[in-house]
Amino acid sequence: ATFGTLSSRLTETFKNLRTKGKLSPADIDGTVREIRRALLEADVSLNVVKAFTGAVRERALGDEVNRALNPAQQVVQIVNEELVAILGGNQRRLQFAKKPPTVIMLAGLQGAGKTTLAGKLAKYLAKDKHTPLLVACDLQRPNAVTQLEVVAKNAGVAVFSPEPGNGVGDPVKVAKASIKYAIDKQHDIVIIDTAGRLGVDAELMKQASDIRKATNPDEVLFVIDAMTGQDAVATALAFQEGVDFTGVVLSKLDGDARGGAALSVVSETHRPILFASTGENLDDFEPFYPDRMASRILDLGDILTLIEQAQEAFDEDEAAKVAQKFATDTFTLEDFLSQMQQLRNMGSIKKMMSMLPGAGAMKAQLDNFDEREIVRTEAIIQSMTIAERRTPKLLNGSRRLRIAKGSGMSVTEVNALVNRFEQAAKMMKTVAKGGVPQIPGMGPI
Ligand code: GDP
Repeated sequence: ATFGTLSSRLTETFKNLRTKGKLSPADIDGTVREIRRALLEADVSLNVVKAFTGAVRERALGDEVNRALNPAQQVVQIVNEELVAILGGNQRRLQFAKKPPTVIMLAGLQGAGKTTLAGKLAKYLAKDKHTPLLVACDLQRPNAVTQLEVVAKNAGVAVFSPEPGNGVGDPVKVAKASIKYAIDKQHDIVIIDTAGRLGVDAELMKQASDIRKATNPDEVLFVIDAMTGQDAVATALAFQEGVDFTGVVLSKLDGDARGGAALSVVSETHRPILFASTGENLDDFEPFYPDRMASRILDLGDILTLIEQAQEAFDEDEAAKVAQKFATDTFTLEDFLSQMQQLRNMGSIKKMMSMLPGAGAMKAQLDNFDEREIVRTEAIIQSMTIAERRTPKLLNGSRRLRIAKGSGMSVTEVNALVNRFEQAAKMMKTVAKGGVPQIPGMGPI
């Protein structure tokens, strides 16, 4: 998971600290040393590690920890604040042109995730009533244009490809022509995908720089693979010098990224991170919030993002109807199925659960979580008749056997599902009536 090792190393360090009451300077020094080691192992650049641990040490030795009711907690708070600071402080939003179209240019090494990002960004903006146009300016890599066309199709947005008249073979001409086209066709945003190379090279930089000059973008986003280790800073600095950029996008944050790139690039380039890419699907994408990311790294959870994603996936009217059903005890297996399908719209359940506080500590359970559980549940419910879905009480032994056969599951699995449904309905009924539900073995939530 995101920052997995770093995260567990840091939380481990704090756990040791919590067993102590007052903290001696030696305790602080020991903690700072461990943080330093964890950051270096995560490939955070030496400059950043030095500045970070220096700041944490100075504050931790100062009065705020001495005076704190819970000194260990105060140290975590300091680390949290300093993490937020190196991740850029406040969230930086995309800047739009005063007069459309807004031009967004993407730059980065080959394989960084630019083309995928183009689709994600376009889909994200289209949801917000924008009419983005994707522009294929990667004319080097075979298939790059086709790949962008596929991405555009999946994102449900328009694409501008090089063809006779659009400047075949010349990315600068294509870029320029695309802006004219966008104005003509009333696209308010132009997203230009550029060519990358496996390594930094002068020709690539010149091309990107020429596209930049020709299109005068409102944003130039440098896309960097979060898995890039030590090289991240050097690559970022080379792009900064060669093309310059207004913001950074971290891609592949879903991988077992050590996180060094994320934690170094803002301080080293003085450019904010705008977005994070967290998977191969077009929805695996989120605005970057330094405070929420710091929270995730320290395993304090990211409830805000979770709630936002839920709000996006769930229809409000639908939710009100369901609440009404819970309250009046008319919630059916059909509703259960549709809820589950909506939940799946939110993306991977595993990813959602990883945003809960303490998720890092439950890593093993999370890794064992099987997304196919939902598919199996669907199969079972779909093997029921409409009457059974509406009135689960009908489900006697012979019906359960028939459903098990129909869905290819065992009767035990069918029983487990029905039990789960009944528990959920009971729990939600309590909530709908304003009560506090109990999760078995976990106390009230
Ligand atoms: P480009 O060369 O910079 O345009 O990179 P692509 O967009 O073609 O991405 C390279 C590879 O990385 C593709 O296989 C993508 O599916 C994959 N990829 C892109 N973004 C992500 C991400 O956020 N997570 C994961 N796991 N894979 C990604």
